[in-house]
Amino acid sequence: MSSTPTNGTAIDLAGLSIGRGFRPERPPALVDGERRAVKYLRLSVTDRCNFRCRYCMPDEGVAFEPRAAVLEFEEIVRVVRAFTRLGITRVRLTGGEPLLRRDFVDLTRMIAAVPGVEDLSLSTNGFLLPPIARELRDAGLRRVNISLDTLDPGRFRDLTRYGSVERVLEAVDAANDAGLGPVKLNAVVIRGYNDDELSALVRYAHAKRALLRFIEFMPIGVDGFWSDRTFMSVDDMMARLADDFIVHPLRGFAHEAGVVGGGPARYGLLTPRGGGEPVEVGFITAVSQSFCSTCNRVRVTATGGLQECLAYPGQLSLRDIMRQGGSDDDVTAAIERALFQKGPGHQFDPRGGGVRTCQTMSVTGG
Ligand code: SAM
Ligand code: SF4
Repeated sequence: MSSTPTNGTAIDLAGLSIGRGFRPERPPALVDGERRAVKYLRLSVTDRCNFRCRYCMPDEGVAFEPRAAVLEFEEIVRVVRAFTRLGITRVRLTGGEPLLRRDFVDLTRMIAAVPGVEDLSLSTNGFLLPPIARELRDAGLRRVNISLDTLDPGRFRDLTRYGSVERVLEAVDAANDAGLGPVKLNAVVIRGYNDDELSALVRYAHAKRALLRFIEFMPIGVDGFWSDRTFMSVDDMMARLADDFIVHPLRGFAHEAGVVGGGPARYGLLTPRGGGEPVEVGFITAVSQSFCSTCNRVRVTATGGLQECLAYPGQLSLRDIMRQGGSDDDVTAAIERALFQKGPGHQFDPRGGGVRTCQTMSVTGG
C-alpha cells in the first residue's frame, strides 16, 4: 500500500521504505517480515529473580548470566534509543525480577528520558515495590503489571517458593497510591492449582480498581510442569467463571475495549450474578487461540539478545554489536534485518506435543 505526500514522493505506508527527500515528523513504523507493525519493546534488565515460581524457574541450579555479560545502563539506553529511532514508543521493563537490578530507579529515569519513549511500564512480582513505588513514578514510570496467581498465603508461598502474598498485596496498594495505575494484575491459570480462585481474583482486582488478566499457561520454562493436565484454556476459564458471573463476549484488544496498554489480552465484561457492577477482565489466549498474526512486540534479553518471538531463542546479540564498536546506525540496521526474518508465530499445542521451549520466561523477558 502506498500514498503520495505533498512533495510527490511515494511512501510505503507499511514503513518498509520511504521515498528520497521525505522527512516524516515521526520515524516510520518498524515492521517485521510478516508485515506486522512492531510497536512495543519488552526489555529484560536482569535474568535473576528473588522468587522461583514453580512454572518459571527451578529452585536450584539456575545458571544466571555472569554480570559482565549483562547490559550496562548506558548500553540499555542505547538499545532503547535504537528502537525509538525505529518508531517504538512503548517500553516495558521486565526480567527476571527487574527490581533486583541495582539502582533500578536511576535506570528508569535514564530510559524515561530517551526521546520518543512515551509509555514506560514495568512487570514485577511486586515484592520489592512498596518502598520505591513513588520514586519510580517520579523517575518517569507510568504503569505497573504485578503478577498475582493466587490470594492464598500458603499456596502463594508454595508456588513462588520464596514469595509472600501479603507483600505483593501491599505492592498493589503502593502502586495505586503512587499513581502507577491502572495496575494490571497477571494471573497464570494452572489447572488443579489455582483454577478454583478465578472468581476471588476477579473480586479482589475489582475492589482494588486493578485490571486483572488471566493468562494461559504456556509450554515455556520448567520441564515437566506444563502438560495437557495443568493447561487450562480461556474457554474453560470462562466456563468456570460463569458459575459466579454472566460472562459477556470479549470486546477485543486493549484499544478496542478502551483499556490502556497494547498487550495481547482481549477484554470482556463479567457481571456478578448476585448483582453489582460489571468488571472488565483481560484474557490472554497464548496457547488455545494464538494471536501471533497480530503480534506487535519485540523482546531484548538482559544480555542484549534480540528475541523476535518468545517461543524461539533469538540469534542476534545487540551487546556484541555495541561492544565491538558498532554505531547506533549499526544497531538499528541489525534490528531491522533481524525482524525482517521473523516467522509467522509459535507452534504451541494445547493437547501436548507441539513445540515447547525450555528457555524460561525469566530469561526471555516475559
Ligand atoms: N518477575 C516478573 C513477574 O513475575 O511479573 C517479571 C517477569 S515474569 C517472567 C513475567 C510474566 O511471565 C509473569 O506474569 C509470569 O507469571 C509469566 N510467566 C512465566 N512463565 C510463564 C509460562 N510458562 N506461561 C505463562 N506465563 C508465564
Ligand atoms: Fe521470577 Fe517472575 Fe519467573 Fe516468578 S514469574 S520466577 S517472579 S521471573
